[in-house]
Amino acid sequence: MASLATPAHGADAADAAAALRAAGLKVTDSRAAVYDTLRTHAHASAEDVYLAIVERMPRASRQSVYNALGDFADAGLVRRIEPAGRPMLFELRVSDNHHHLVCTSCGAVVDVDCAIGAAPCLEPSDSHGFILTTAEVTYWGVCPACARAATPPLTEGTS
Ligand SMILES: [Zn+2]
Ligand SMILES: [Zn+2]
Repeated sequence: MASLATPAHGADAADAAAALRAAGLKVTDSRAAVYDTLRTHAHASAEDVYLAIVERMPRASRQSVYNALGDFADAGLVRRIEPAGRPMLFELRVSDNHHHLVCTSCGAVVDVDCAIGAAPCLEPSDSHGFILTTAEVTYWGVCPACARAATPPLTEGTS
């Protein structure tokens, strides 16, 4: 949906409310704030969301943020991802079978499209009779910024 103008804050609030209602959730201030925060912070932990909200709404409670995220997950509005050894992360991109790249050094998380375009994406060597629906793939590695920081710059001009 293209828009000629930058949406005003009021339009954003309406979008959050519409998304909540479409998911069958009652619209509350804290739910709308959590939804808006996830639009600008993909792959945020519950704590990340809380810290972002409390800057704008000092009276927001941690519990209301956690409750809202749980309600969103139950309603299919957010996807939870749990890279091993990291806090659970939340994102609004739920309508596809995308995977994630995770940096083992700084923890950066990046979306990567499904390798073949449709779930379950990967075929196991033996499905043991299971009817497969999804494969969650986490690619672990070092992001470009961390790789650059770890490699001493090449000295130019020497033979
Ligand atoms: Zn990194
Ligand atoms: Zn993602």
